[in-house]
Amino acid sequence: MASIAVIGAGIIGLASCRALRAKGLEVTLIDRQAPGEGASYGNAGLIAGYANSPLASWQTLKQLPGQIFNNTPSISIDPRYTLSMAGFSVRFMRAATASRFQRHYRDLNVLLEHAVEAQHELLDSLDEPSLWSDSGCLQVIRSDTRMAARLSEMANSKQAEGIRCEALGAADVQALEPELNDAGLLGGLYFPGSRFLRDPQAVCQRLWTQLARQGVQRINDHVEHLRPRQGGGWLLEHGQETTRFDAVVLCAGLANNRLLESLGIVLPVISERGYHLALSTSLELVRPVGWLAHHFYATPMANGVRLAGTTEFCAPKQVPDTRRWHHLKNWGEELFGRVLMPSSQWLGVRHSSPDGLPVVGHVSGMPGLCLAYGHGHLGVTLSALTGELVAATVAGEALPGFAAALAPSRFLKGVGKKDIITR
Ligand SMILES: Cc1cc2nc3c(=O)[nH]c(=O)nc-3n(C[C@H](O)[C@H](O)[C@H](O)COP(=O)(O)OP(=O)(O)OC[C@H]3O[C@@H](n4cnc5c(N)ncnc54)[C@H](O)[C@@H]3O)c2cc1C
Repeated sequence: MASIAVIGAGIIGLASCRALRAKGLEVTLIDRQAPGEGASYGNAGLIAGYANSPLASWQTLKQLPGQIFNNTPSISIDPRYTLSMAGFSVRFMRAATASRFQRHYRDLNVLLEHAVEAQHELLDSLDEPSLWSDSGCLQVIRSDTRMAARLSEMANSKQAEGIRCEALGAADVQALEPELNDAGLLGGLYFPGSRFLRDPQAVCQRLWTQLARQGVQRINDHVEHLRPRQGGGWLLEHGQETTRFDAVVLCAGLANNRLLESLGIVLPVISERGYHLALSTSLELVRPVGWLAHHFYATPMANGVRLAGTTEFCAPKQVPDTRRWHHLKNWGEELFGRVLMPSSQWLGVRHSSPDGLPVVGHVSGMPGLCLAYGHGHLGVTLSALTGELVAATVAGEALPGFAAALAPSRFLKGVGKKDIITR
């Protein structure tokens, strides 16, 4: 039986293990952290089938200066990170041109359509319905009258893509979530029936328990290097050991970049940090409420409401910008019209690609190496489908047509490739 190493025990690595094991392959998960402790711990928990527009658009570029040069920015770029972002930035601007945006928009919509179905199947199989809820999601608009005037148009464009969406006035929004502050509330978009996780880490832990029962092995270690082995397969160096596998799946988030660099592969996937503030204040929220203008959601998690989001293009290890937690608190207080008490704060690293699509698939010329990262804001949503694509890739099966848009080769034409040395 072929032996497969999956590096990284976040939601992407776990979903990949699940789909690989379902094909009868011998799977080993490698990570020194316990399952679900990276970005998969602190996200907003949305299965966001409605987030169907890539960030790289003319609209984003137009709004960027206003967002960045704001006293309370929800999007920022650390000047020290601009050099590391150069390849990403060039491709991001290219991806924002009308024709490319349209292509990526179509690709993302097809992807999401399949992803939500796959994600529901994965969650249902955990047999623990208290871990998620199907009570929908709200995105609210406050103060911005121009945006409020476009609500129907926005809802129509979602509906045209087959997404269940309703444009609501302020009174209807308030009726759905009476905790919301009615002062300044202008309306919102409602996505009935959409699912969210009530505890993203518990989902990872539950999934791992199931995988361990199915015979997936685990190595508690950090992979330092990987190299192709003469005669086939891969050698992974971790701790004091070197272990051989027939194939390797890289699901280590942004750390994939460092592992790939030693193979001469450079991909424009960068760090987009996000923050969360967990509240001890009790709020009777039924569903996640997003405030679009500030790029964050208030999600009713199992242990209280979590305010999660914002975007900070910044090196992963830089010290946190503590002002972001203050901003989240202030925006939350405006959203709910009351003083909020935080219980804990968190910072996590998204791994984002310029075209808003993940990087999933084989690297040509490197048999047995499969990549799965670059999921940006949608890693939870896309995880089950990513796992299925990874398993089909490793098993050498035909992939669905939409998988072509995710291939690593789209970024590798002429980029920093060098000969691979086998030992
Ligand atoms: C604030 C915020 C809100 C978000 N909200 C949502 C949302 O509502 N919906 C949604 O779909 N997505 C959301 N996301 C994105 C989502 O959380 C991520 O895309 C997803 O968790 C990525 O999962 P992952 O498994 O790739 O990475 P991670 O969960 O970060 O896991 C990577 C793992 O790799 C391991 N690793 C790293 N290097 C090595 C190595 N060398 N050897 C072995 N292991 C290694 C790490 O220890 C870690 O466990 C949000 C993200 C943030 C930051």
